[in-house]
Amino acid sequence: MKISRRAILKITGFGVLAIGLLPKMAFAARGKIKSLRAGVQPGNKTRLVIETSARPSYSLSYPENKLVVSISNTVADNKIKPQIASGTLIKSIAQSQIGDKVQIVANLQKSISQIPKKQIMILEPNGDNDYRMVFDFVAGTNAVAQTSAVATTQKKAAKKYVIVIDAGHGGKDPGCIGRNGTKEKKVVLSVAKKLKSKLDSAGFKAYLTRSTDVFLNLDTRAGLAEKYHADLFISLHANANPSRKMKGFSIYTLSKKASDQEAAKLAEAENASDKIDVDGFEDFSKDIRSALSALQQQAVAEMSVEYANDCARKLVNAGVMKQPGPYVRHAPFAVLRSTIPGALIEIGHLSNAEEERLLNSDSHQDKLANTILKAIKEYNFEV
Ligand SMILES: [Zn+2]
Repeated sequence: MKISRRAILKITGFGVLAIGLLPKMAFAARGKIKSLRAGVQPGNKTRLVIETSARPSYSLSYPENKLVVSISNTVADNKIKPQIASGTLIKSIAQSQIGDKVQIVANLQKSISQIPKKQIMILEPNGDNDYRMVFDFVAGTNAVAQTSAVATTQKKAAKKYVIVIDAGHGGKDPGCIGRNGTKEKKVVLSVAKKLKSKLDSAGFKAYLTRSTDVFLNLDTRAGLAEKYHADLFISLHANANPSRKMKGFSIYTLSKKASDQEAAKLAEAENASDKIDVDGFEDFSKDIRSALSALQQQAVAEMSVEYANDCARKLVNAGVMKQPGPYVRHAPFAVLRSTIPGALIEIGHLSNAEEERLLNSDSHQDKLANTILKAIKEYNFEV
């Protein structure tokens, strides 16, 4: 399955680089080792999972044929029997208590290089699981290959990644309408087309959910992302606010619960698009993402947030006005309910006269498309 290949990650404040910044964790509860497991991921990656009862703070070292994970403020539990699937690089896993630290030593068939931060994630507790530290790695000690990993990823990105761009609304559904009559469906299609051509020129394979003024229901849009096996899904919208003064773009990713009231209202408004097409209207209980495992769902959510955050920052840096509030918000947008990482971008407010003018201008549309593209180019698809 495609999604599991992108072995996921999370950059947390507790990653290797942050260790020095969090020297004591003085008030953190003392954790316990809860389980140790290893398996194989697509791409012949070995995955080591260390489950702990408290949020872990750790450091890594790589002696010959070993991976050592040193976890602060944690208690070993030697009753735990490591579960190691066949085919991994790991021969055995041992734990030992050294002061208030636990050292987990994975004995390997071969030495490995430093694990890139992108291949390390810390997962929050969910369901039956506690905190989990997840490390993905392959055999080999080619330091040069490791340091150029980012550049290689970007080069590869220009070759094979599939981006599906969704211009919101269309046909009988105009979306919101500006003070001077600008229709959301038209502006977002124009930006979507620019983005597609820029992506194709940059070597990506880009598809539009619609390239003309037609109505598509939200399931169809999410379904197209699945059908094209998209690596990333971008849904473009424009906003309207009762206050004509409100300005700025905003970016959203999918969550079951909205991060704030405004996000909840917006998702409701965008989801209402389906109600225009009575025949096509389905209840939004359908969530394709729920077909994924909890780990995969979390990975998709994190990858989405990673893209969204970076895109928001780049838009701000490019001088695009941001709506007041957080960089990225979350809400149950029906169109994002697929297994594909993605974001919904409200490119600005048509209800604001100045922004309506901007959104109609070719140069501003270009700026938006260029910036969204830039964030896609820098997005790490290979994690
Ligand atoms: Zn919209």
